[in-house]
Amino acid sequence: MTKTVLITGASRGIGKAIALYLAPLDYELVLTYHTNESAAKETLSEVKALGGQARLMQLDISHRSDCQRRLSEDIEKNGVYYGIVCNAGIAEDAPFPLLEGDMWDHVIDTNLDGFYNILHPVVMPMIENRIRGRIIALSSISGIIGNRGQVNYSAAKAGIIGASKALAVELAKHKITVNCIAPGIIETDMTKNLPIEEVKKIIPARRLGTGREVASLVAYLLSEDAAYLTRQVISVNGGMI
Ligand code: NDP
Repeated sequence: MTKTVLITGASRGIGKAIALYLAPLDYELVLTYHTNESAAKETLSEVKALGGQARLMQLDISHRSDCQRRLSEDIEKNGVYYGIVCNAGIAEDAPFPLLEGDMWDHVIDTNLDGFYNILHPVVMPMIENRIRGRIIALSSISGIIGNRGQVNYSAAKAGIIGASKALAVELAKHKITVNCIAPGIIETDMTKNLPIEEVKKIIPARRLGTGREVASLVAYLLSEDAAYLTRQVISVNGGMI
């Protein structure tokens, strides 16, 4: 039976790159987006052009009851997921004295609460159906080393690492793996306003990463061969840390 993989934030950036990488592989993809429906439709048609099977789902990962309802309805209608890629996320950067309360709340509500809001409705159906599945959460090097101007984002991304490791321990006996990918600086909308030439100087590889370089790791973590790899944080960062 075809395995279903949910990718949050697949309309743009890394999530889109993951969708395109997985398209030719034998997965049914559920591609979520927040507000950018036209970009999501573009991802869907590119996935289909590559021979992939996919459907779209509009989802605000910070909205708990909405996630619960939509994901449960989708599972009820189309079956349990094999893989979940918690990719959607936001950054709202400022030096700490200028970090407003709503910037803190928004980034934590989306990035960290999003982890719970997406995974809580889907994990029990995986266990009940004895799915030997895969959970992959996008953290960041910011969550490992802490980045200037990103106290909120570093907190959320470090939280995702702790949450993933704890969940990995709980789910290991069910043969479900849980891992984090912690990218360095990847060329997407999120990084388009960075001073690129300055940034390159702090990356030993002297370039930004591509979405595809993250996506290939997602594909590996989803594969049968990665069944013994769990509770880990793998950083794709051109040697930054
Ligand atoms: P982008 O800004 O390019 O894309 C963000 C994606 O997340 C979009 O699909 C967007 O949907 C979706 N999204 C945003 N808010 C919500 C929400 N509330 N509910 C549902 N979906 C939402 O980001 P990247 O591709 O760069 O980043 C992807 C992940 O990788 C994030 O978790 C990010 O923190 C992480 N990361 C990125 C790095 C980088 O250098 N780019 C480095 C380290 C980690 P829509 O299009 O509808 O707005």
